[in-house]
Amino acid sequence: MASVIWLRRDAPLKPALGDTCNGCGVCCASEPCPVARAYLWQFRGSCKALEWDDHGKRYRCGLLLHPRLFLLWLPARFENWFLQRVSRKIAAGIGCDSSFEAESVDTSA
Ligand code: SF4
Ligand code: SF4
Repeated sequence: MASVIWLRRDAPLKPALGDTCNGCGVCCASEPCPVARAYLWQFRGSCKALEWDDHGKRYRCGLLLHPRLFLLWLPARFENWFLQRVSRKIAAGIGCDSSFEAESVDTSA
């Protein structure tokens, strides 16, 4: 089923499944990952932790960048433990694991 997601015009195009993740944001804008479901209690829509990195011109996971911004209950001393735990679940730094097919639509007209 087709659905509409909103991403920045200058975001990179989604690579093929298994290719290097380029931070296109398609996966996280389509639905929250298991980590977002478990820790952010978000079950649909674009993940609230999805952040645009203007310098790198790519989307990043805010939950990995600054977890305590989202998880106010997380003590500072457990931040590294949390990051190690969720990095594995998110498969950060590994190839694209999203089978979504993305198509750009020009909304400027
Ligand atoms: S995992 Fe794939 S869809 Fe998700 S941000 Fe990376 S390249 Fe884009
Ligand atoms: S990887 Fe991060 S930004 Fe993407 S859905 Fe999961 S928690 Fe949200």
